[in-house]
Amino acid sequence: MLETSWDAIVIGAGAAGLMAAIRAAERGRRTLLLEKNRRSGVKILMSGGTRCNLTHATDNRGIVEAFGPPGRFLHSALARLSVQDTIDFFEAEGVATKVEETGKIFPVSNKAADVLDALLARLHRSGAVLALAEPVREMSKAEQGLCIVTPLRNLHAAHVILTTGGKSYPGSGTTGDGYGFAAQFGHTIVTPRPALAPITVTVPWIKDLMGVTLPQVVVRVLEAGSSAATRTPSRCGSALICSQRSRTPSWRNTCGTSRLLRARSNWQACSQRTCLGASATQS
Ligand SMILES: Cc1cc2nc3c(=O)[nH]c(=O)nc-3n(C[C@H](O)[C@H](O)[C@H](O)COP(=O)(O)OP(=O)(O)OC[C@H]3O[C@@H](n4cnc5c(N)ncnc54)[C@H](O)[C@@H]3O)c2cc1C
Repeated sequence: MLETSWDAIVIGAGAAGLMAAIRAAERGRRTLLLEKNRRSGVKILMSGGTRCNLTHATDNRGIVEAFGPPGRFLHSALARLSVQDTIDFFEAEGVATKVEETGKIFPVSNKAADVLDALLARLHRSGAVLALAEPVREMSKAEQGLCIVTPLRNLHAAHVILTTGGKSYPGSGTTGDGYGFAAQFGHTIVTPRPALAPITVTVPWIKDLMGVTLPQVVVRVLEAGSSAATRTPSRCGSALICSQRSRTPSWRNTCGTSRLLRARSNWQACSQRTCLGASATQS
């Protein structure tokens, strides 16, 4: 087995990993970016209904406030890479951006692929090495730095950056590996719970609405057997109608139903005109 030593190894080539590897390499570190999938940035391509909203037209404080009370942890990251820095980063890579009515900032091309291409171009220029289809299986402490085992080789790194994403959408590569690695090195893991959950519906007419974003949708949780008139917790926000891999149309809620999901297992999605029976799954 080939054994190689790096200044920095970044695990997971999603948005976070690509940015981390670019930054490390641009700071002169010999950087290896390991990705379990055969391609990088799978979720970038899915996000924003495949248009990828890059950021939001607000200042750093606005981002923190939108996150709610735990958003305080974002201050230090935003101090290093502000909303404007993010826009400037992509504009400099040739991705022209636009602000939509909702405040979301998208590439003018409406193509998430342009966002990913920009990151990959910058990664290439940075000198970082990207290794695809190479999952990290094990990590352990070395005398100095860390040892990493993949199915192809044993590696050593002075520094490791974990950007393995969460546990949602396991088909995209995020199977929660990072939690185990982080816990192994003494980090406390807050039990993950769904934050963005699709609602799968089977009514045939919804296929005609594929790709449509409804700006204001109310999602209300109902107890099994209760009527729609029963007052239960609800959230309001935008919803994107898109297809699942199974080709079943789903109503993908983007308005923070996670707290509702924790509370109830049976729920319904209600717009002003429509009320659909729905089942909840993790996104
Ligand atoms: C359908 C969908 C729509 C979305 N829409 C929006 C949106 O409109 N706006 C928005 O802001 N966000 C949206 N998101 C969320 C956004 O895409 C994610 O928050 C973001 O891409 C997460 O980036 P990340 O780099 O942290 O993690 P990920 O993109 O999940 O990347 C983690 C990477 O680590 C890799 N990995 C995992 N384990 C290992 C291992 N052991 N070894 C090597 N590699 C490993 C994975 O394969 C993956 O490539 C959406 C997500 C989905 C699924």
